[in-house]
Amino acid sequence: MAVPQNRVTRSRRNMRRAHDALTAANPAECPSCGELKRPHHVCPSCGHYDSREVVASVVDAGLDDDAA
Ligand SMILES: [Zn+2]
Repeated sequence: MAVPQNRVTRSRRNMRRAHDALTAANPAECPSCGELKRPHHVCPSCGHYDSREVVASVVDAGLDDDAA
């Protein structure tokens, strides 16, 4: 098993971790249904993108009828 040749100091470890922070998502309101959605992504709630439906929603496709 590989073993580190030199101890990583607190300073060097913390400098490495300075770039590890996660960035927060930037959700925007869907102009069609008002749900929060990721920018430049199809709305997962209503299937709209750029104010038109690109993915058939569950209700419109009638998929609920098959579920019994
Ligand atoms: Zn929507």
